[in-house]
Amino acid sequence: MAQAERSPANEDLAQIRESVRALCAKFPGEYWRDLDRERAYPTEFVAALTQAGFLAALIPEEYGGSGLSMTAAAAIMEEIQASGCNGAACHAQMYTMGTLLRHGSAAQKARWLPAIASGELRLQAFGVTEPTSGSDTLNLRTTAVREGDHYIINGQKIWTSRAEHSDLLLLIARTTPREAVTRRSDGLSVFLVDMRLAQGTGISIIPIRTMMNHATTELFFDDLRVPAENLIGEEGQGFRYILSGMNAERILIAAECIGDAKWFIAKATGYAKERIVFGRPIGQNQGVQFPIARAYAQMRAAELMVGAAAALYEAGRECGAEANMAKLLAADASWAAADMCLQTHGGFGFAEEFDVERKFRETRLYQTAPISTNLILSYLAEHVLGLPRSY
Ligand SMILES: Cc1cc2nc3c(=O)[nH]c(=O)nc-3n(C[C@H](O)[C@H](O)[C@H](O)COP(=O)(O)OP(=O)(O)OC[C@H]3O[C@@H](n4cnc5c(N)ncnc54)[C@H](O)[C@@H]3O)c2cc1C
Repeated sequence: MAQAERSPANEDLAQIRESVRALCAKFPGEYWRDLDRERAYPTEFVAALTQAGFLAALIPEEYGGSGLSMTAAAAIMEEIQASGCNGAACHAQMYTMGTLLRHGSAAQKARWLPAIASGELRLQAFGVTEPTSGSDTLNLRTTAVREGDHYIINGQKIWTSRAEHSDLLLLIARTTPREAVTRRSDGLSVFLVDMRLAQGTGISIIPIRTMMNHATTELFFDDLRVPAENLIGEEGQGFRYILSGMNAERILIAAECIGDAKWFIAKATGYAKERIVFGRPIGQNQGVQFPIARAYAQMRAAELMVGAAAALYEAGRECGAEANMAKLLAADASWAAADMCLQTHGGFGFAEEFDVERKFRETRLYQTAPISTNLILSYLAEHVLGLPRSY
């Protein structure tokens, strides 16, 4: 659960949104298209966001961050996407540091957070998913065995995004064998791995080429030595720490989906007004108007849930159901808007220069990651509606 958070009452959200839009305007469609073709990382874009302080939005001021509320952080991510940019290149920095902030020791926070806030250190990588266990996180097999003042890590992660562009990796590994714990969720621990020291000495990073430009990778650990002082919180309690950060992750990704939906709706509306077929704008046909209007209504409804989840989070109240529903509804809204936008553009929707096909590929991810839609539905069924546990 979130600690008492900053309230948006004393923040100028309109000003924050305007500043993000102004920054994003310097990174137009051509910039993203070139990177997409090469599957290259948007280094300049991420550097600009970092310099402007946007990626340190949720880091408290005492550690050099902006100390903004979740509502403001969500507004930042939404505006990035609504401007046609891709916040997936750096969104993890915003929510991954929450584990360190909430569960790290005073010494760890003092050591890492100011450097993350200033951009000197990038904490963009989050290693949870493994090839054999997938969504069943409690079944993960990567192990961390204590040897003196180090842990020795062996195993494999998959889909660890941005690992090649991050200095630090937040890693979850098993410290007690599954058979030796009483509760299923015990025995996992979280480490902050300094990848600058680790590369070539126990960690290999293999890029995975995907349908969109996402800088995702596979990681192999072979007797990687991590200093024991890099263990976050208590040994064996890591799953609880990771879970507590997931509400923030869900809310921020939902906000990105809202931004995507806004981009698709604006793009489709503009095109429907300008494209003349049969001697009139295509947008004059109800068959073209209605899907745009429906996508708009769906986006606005999802936006309300994102706002509700962020407000609960800020108030330090339980928000698991709302954060999950926000992610589900916003991902559905962005995907519906993407499909509508492609259809509105006819053949031109498939042409790279319109950016529609790129954003269409990018927003599709959120039906699957960071949690797939089915897993959210089963959470709601079991924890909110009291239906029997299905797995
Ligand atoms: C581009 C990309 C980037 C990613 N980045 C990261 C990252 O940075 N860090 C990280 O740790 N992970 C990352 N992931 C992993 C992502 O979180 C997982 O892909 C996602 O959680 C689904 O797990 P899986 O792929 O193993 O699917 P599986 O668990 O194998 O599931 C496959 C399908 O079966 C369904 N399914 C499985 N079990 C059930 C069930 N009990 N009931 C109903 N349906 C079920 C799922 O919903 C899914 O549709 C990324 C993934 C991608 C594709």
